[in-house]
Amino acid sequence: MLKTNGYAAMSATTPPEPFAFERREPGEHDVLIEILFCGVCHSDIHQARGEWNNSTFPMVPGHEIVGRVARVGAAVTKFREGDMAGVGCFVDSCRVCDNCREGLEQYCEGHTAATYNGTEMDEKTPTYGGYSTQIVVDENYTLRIPAGLDPAGAAPLLCAGITTYSPLRHFNVREGQRVGVVGLGGLGHMGVKLAASMGADVTVFSTSPSKEGDARQLGAHHFVVTREPESLAPLANKFDLILDTVSAPHDVNLYLNLLRRDGVMVLVGVPEKPVEVQAFSVISNRRRFAGSSIGGIRETQEMLDYCAERRITSDVEVIPIQRIEEAYERTVKADVRYRFVIDIDSLRRGQ
Ligand code: NAP
Ligand code: ZN
Ligand code: ZN
Repeated sequence: MLKTNGYAAMSATTPPEPFAFERREPGEHDVLIEILFCGVCHSDIHQARGEWNNSTFPMVPGHEIVGRVARVGAAVTKFREGDMAGVGCFVDSCRVCDNCREGLEQYCEGHTAATYNGTEMDEKTPTYGGYSTQIVVDENYTLRIPAGLDPAGAAPLLCAGITTYSPLRHFNVREGQRVGVVGLGGLGHMGVKLAASMGADVTVFSTSPSKEGDARQLGAHHFVVTREPESLAPLANKFDLILDTVSAPHDVNLYLNLLRRDGVMVLVGVPEKPVEVQAFSVISNRRRFAGSSIGGIRETQEMLDYCAERRITSDVEVIPIQRIEEAYERTVKADVRYRFVIDIDSLRRGQ
């Protein structure tokens, strides 16, 4: 077994703290990754704080992992020692259901091994995530990080990037369409960059007036402060697609009403309370209210390659792991520009 240092939430009410544990020795299809950077997703906070009522402790969060391959199993063909590799939200899945066969492992109908707060394929051994020095993952669930992508800025692509790329692609966002992004945080800022790169006319809906300048630099064409709901009225029936990335309860009907005929609103944010949809919000204009979950391995690789070609990475604030609780607090207050990323060397140095 491989002795590994990490940070774990020991309960829903205590901040992550140092935690030593063991990883399996790499099997013949596994790669051992020395973790360099791990993004801090709001899902880490929801789960570490027990907000989704599915938490198991100790929990080592982290599913935006970039590192260097330190060892490969005998049968590994995709990676060599020294390669840059990434790991996202899951580390295995059943591989035989229709969704797995189609490369949509995020919708696996069998058991999926979530990167953390889950179990391995034996459905017993807990999985531990990227707030740690190393991880062992089957090569089929490991991504190649293209050369030229800054490793810290690439880490958030593994969740925030793919979670926004996948619905933009699935709903065929293209040149000239009007796309709204609700919430300018980790997911939101990637949604803006990606939708703009696809040629869409992008509007940010934000509760933070101070983010307007950033929004425009990220590629948004319009910025609407949603604390003044009357500012939404002139935008009724105008949008082809709205991506809702908000992490807390809010009124989705305000945004549904901005969709044109056959427009679609895609929920990717996961507020802890059920969402209320007024019937007329979807009946009018034959609107669709959809959701989307991360992305499969094949599409995640496609997104990484797409981002490398266009030099798209996340705007990050790199922190030592010892500041993780402060990062959580600031993220909850929407005070993150636009993703905290942990420098895992701080864990090795133990400073
Ligand atoms: P984040 O960085 O905290 O961003 C969320 C943004 O939502 C904030 O920056 C803020 O933007 C806005 N917001 C926060 N509280 C709000 C409130 N009370 N009312 C209105 N707006 C508010 O979080 P994230 O990491 O991007 O994650 C966003 C959500 O997506 C989380 O719930 C996370 O669990 C979920 N998620 C889902 C998937 C998936 O597969 N579907 C994957 C990853 C994450 P402004 O300051 O601009 O208002
Ligand atoms: Zn995430
Ligand atoms: Zn499956």
